[in-house]
Amino acid sequence: MLSKPKSPYLPFGDQQKAPWYGKDILSVKQFSRADLEYIIEVAHEMRIMVERIGTFDLLKGKILANLFYEPSTRTASSFMAAMERLGGAVIPISEVRYSSVAKGESLPDTVRTLECYADVIVLRHPEVGAAALAAKYCRKPVINAGDGVGEHPTQALLDTFTIREELGRLDNLTVTMLGDLKYGRTVHSLSRLLTRFSGIKLNYVSPDILRMPKEVIDEVAEKGIPQHESGSLDKVLPETDVLYVTRVQKERFEDGAVYEKVKEAFVVNPEVMKPAKRDMIVMHPLPRITEISMSFDDDPRAAYFRQMEYGLYVRMALLAMVLGKA
Ligand code: ASP
Repeated sequence: MLSKPKSPYLPFGDQQKAPWYGKDILSVKQFSRADLEYIIEVAHEMRIMVERIGTFDLLKGKILANLFYEPSTRTASSFMAAMERLGGAVIPISEVRYSSVAKGESLPDTVRTLECYADVIVLRHPEVGAAALAAKYCRKPVINAGDGVGEHPTQALLDTFTIREELGRLDNLTVTMLGDLKYGRTVHSLSRLLTRFSGIKLNYVSPDILRMPKEVIDEVAEKGIPQHESGSLDKVLPETDVLYVTRVQKERFEDGAVYEKVKEAFVVNPEVMKPAKRDMIVMHPLPRITEISMSFDDDPRAAYFRQMEYGLYVRMALLAMVLGKA
């Protein structure tokens, strides 16, 4: 077992003041309610700073390696924007086929290389557990930006921040997750994270073959959170405070014909949304394909574009935290 001595960026006293300094962010399981409240507070400050002055020098001189083995628009670009808004620099590796990965280099060797040049590594990879493996071999903080069908912790953190900013609370909420709950890593992370709050009820609505994995249901049940599975949205929509819609994850299906059968199982549009509350929100990690009709985009409850912007502030907060500046 490798030990992972962290680089001494800060004098000892200052490290104690920055509790996330040098830490990896691999799973939402790492976060307590107090941690979440802290991240929300820092993200909120980042929002104010960006709105007031745009870019500032909190991470001047620091370098982020953004290593993406799977496609990404929002996660990759928001991490880059976050680092640059904080005055740092980025090594972007989105096309791994142009890096030594294409020559057969292993993940441990790739991160050992990048830690020589960067202060923090953001990793997206198609295999569950890849971020944990990278972190084992890397002495700099590793942030999981999605490991296959496993987790997407920074998305769940920004989802939490979105709910807080939009609805003003994180307790006493009925959250309905809709779509591909089997392969959608964002809902695996978000349902686990919501167990930190009280008065939460989770509804899972999906085609039968795309149900929430038992492992996640069991973990959530252990925390005493009521969960309800259904094949239809009608019954649960009127009580819903947050409707979290997901894309059917085409790239995870072995059989294209099965994907074709379920890809349009649920479509959210103004008609479908009529029985929903006025003061609820609709979220989506994006990209959306057909599961939310564009005709719903102008509804004030459509929070999915605002959600992307909240992602910038949360990722700024996380970078500042693991680099000892928050
Ligand atoms: N962007 C999200 C993810 O990377 C959701 C999706 O791809 O559907 O997991």
